[in-house]
Amino acid sequence: MTQPNAADTPQDAAFSRRSLAVQALGRIDPETRAVVAPLHVSTTFVRDPDNGYSSGFSYARPDNATVREAEAVLAMLEQAEAGALLFGSGMAAATAVFTALEPGDHVVAPVVMYWALKRWLREELPRRSIGVDFVAMDDLDALRAAIRPGTTRLVWIETPGNPLWTVTDIAAAAGIAHAAGARLAVDSTAASPVHTRPLTLGADIVMHSATKILNGHSDVVAGVLAGARADAFWQRIAAIRAGGGAILGPFEAYLLMRSLRTLHLRAGAQAASALALARRLDGHPLLSAVLYPGLPDDAGHAIAARQMEGGFGYMLSVRVAAGEAAAIATAARVRLWKRATSLGGVESLIEHRASIEGPGSPCPPDLLRLSTGIEDTDDLFADLDRALRAAV
Ligand code: PLP
Repeated sequence: MTQPNAADTPQDAAFSRRSLAVQALGRIDPETRAVVAPLHVSTTFVRDPDNGYSSGFSYARPDNATVREAEAVLAMLEQAEAGALLFGSGMAAATAVFTALEPGDHVVAPVVMYWALKRWLREELPRRSIGVDFVAMDDLDALRAAIRPGTTRLVWIETPGNPLWTVTDIAAAAGIAHAAGARLAVDSTAASPVHTRPLTLGADIVMHSATKILNGHSDVVAGVLAGARADAFWQRIAAIRAGGGAILGPFEAYLLMRSLRTLHLRAGAQAASALALARRLDGHPLLSAVLYPGLPDDAGHAIAARQMEGGFGYMLSVRVAAGEAAAIATAARVRLWKRATSLGGVESLIEHRASIEGPGSPCPPDLLRLSTGIEDTDDLFADLDRALRAAV
């Protein structure tokens, strides 16, 4: 099977996305009546006597039944008509979109975006004769100016954008892209489908590093794309995944599906804690800024309030007034926050981001990135406050 996974989900309009996700769409295994879908690990499948494959499965590199189950839940969450495609990482998912472009095409991408993907775009697109320009996506005039009508085929945005949590107006960006004949793809990792549904706002493709809050337990690396339409571009992405063997493994898909059952609880709690922390840290005497779209004076707040639902996500950043050395010393002194990269897990993480991103990054050297988990907010605040005071 090399076809993309059609959204064969029981999109029962009577029930919310939350209710459907909690039950992983409520499918019952026909053989055992189990409420949890079986884990399919077989790499190969027996042919019918007439040499056909009536089950639709022939080999596990292009397709897998457990992966399909998780994809159906993700397609439901994103309201994706074309369905969803799971990949072995967020980078594999994102790069499949760019790999589907043709030589001579042009891409517009954000200045503030996941740094490793930005580096990949800079290094790999020119080798494929694909042009790329990076613009401040919170400035729609800059986006309009960067578009080359007839040549720009893809506008890529990330909102909120890592690690400054810059907000991009998805509906406006979709309008600008479509007017020029381009597609809009959205990295929605920091929002999660709980807080933003980019396809309903006009985006063509939504991407997540499922390594983050979708899985949420820091034990799976995965990526997902969900598509508004099963058009030729989407089919090409599916063919790239199948041909290149970039599909997620069944064990990871199984763990991811288990995590999706609690996504709404986790995302809701993490966003509520992030907002409470941002409010308490805002105005802290040892911080020069708190970057979080949920704060009313944040530059992206008005757009975020319009396009995000039920919260502003689990990610925030703080700038340490005394500078880079004090920021690094603060990260060295926390006890509850874990000093590690990545985001979206139930455990809270802190990271000095500039030293990861290196030269050319828009990340200020005094910035600490905070991924809020589900520990007590009071403990998280007290731990950070104590570390700041000890470091400065
Ligand atoms: N997009 C964002 C916003 C990310 O934070 C990351 C990883 O940190 C990625 C994409 C890449 O995902 P992965 O690490 O699963 O390849």
